Amino acid sequence: MEEKLLEVKDLSVAFNSYLGVAEVLDRISYSVDENQWLGIAGESGCGKTVSAFSLLKLLPEAAMIRNGEILFKGESILDKSEREMRKLRGGEISIVFQEPQSALNPSKRVGENIVESLRLHQGIRGEEAKRRAIQMLDLVKIPQPRVRFSQFPHELSGGMQQRVCIAIALACHPSLLIADEFTTSLDVTTQQEILKLVVDLQRQSTMSVLFITHDLALISECCDELIIMYAGQIMERGKVDRVFRNPSHPYTRLLLNAIPSISRKDEKLNSIDGSVPGLVNPPKGCRFHTRCKQKIPGRCDVVFPRETAIDETHRAWCHLLYT
Ligand code: SF4
Repeated sequence: MEEKLLEVKDLSVAFNSYLGVAEVLDRISYSVDENQWLGIAGESGCGKTVSAFSLLKLLPEAAMIRNGEILFKGESILDKSEREMRKLRGGEISIVFQEPQSALNPSKRVGENIVESLRLHQGIRGEEAKRRAIQMLDLVKIPQPRVRFSQFPHELSGGMQQRVCIAIALACHPSLLIADEFTTSLDVTTQQEILKLVVDLQRQSTMSVLFITHDLALISECCDELIIMYAGQIMERGKVDRVFRNPSHPYTRLLLNAIPSISRKDEKLNSIDGSVPGLVNPPKGCRFHTRCKQKIPGRCDVVFPRETAIDETHRAWCHLLYT
């Protein structure tokens, strides 16, 4: 069987908080193939970002990995030392965050931010590093890359800063790019330009992208597969077109219904009643049961549903799907 680029198996993560222990991820499993876009979607607090930070071993001290394993190119991430992880981060696995302002070092010039990554991960220095950094600025379509190289991040617009972050993330040719809500802080036009840029750059390589977002419309534009998460549990996963055509979980249907549509512009926007539950003593069984109008009392609030195959790649976890 062909080895997956990334495999997350039965991962459970908890956080110590002043309210108690929050069960943030509950036995989640997924994989990413080479050259694939996988979207992870859900409301805030569903565990998307914790799942990404687990891959990089960047969880805060209060976090505890309770269960599971993470394999990258067949090797256990959780068994790697901090030294090995520093090499992996920004090298084989890169991340682009939501806020470019906080990702860039404001006291370093734009070019130095890129040069530093090249030096750390590939040992490239001096004129060669400068040449490569300018090449990267050009690749992410920053006008006048030589001029921009010597400017400070605050001299660039938010969209340009995010392009610089993408240049840094891609400078060392990663196998996996984690894009964590990376267009959320940008206006709609810039958001589309940045997404198109990453789609184009990914097509020129075999890099895979893990795209974390609350925005299903964006996932439909670029991802091959998606995972729907709710309160630390996976509710549904599958090929994007199949899940959009045949959403099988009540939560997925509500999320899809909440996407604004031009054809429904006169209609009221649908929202999902209630809010994501707290994860200290989370709801038992299916965590969505506190908001689900189709809940089966005595069942949904007792046991987590088993996996149901909708088709060869499409899976959902809901008691309504089997008897
Ligand atoms: Fe609703 Fe029960 Fe299905 Fe959860 S398992 S989505 S509570 S019907």
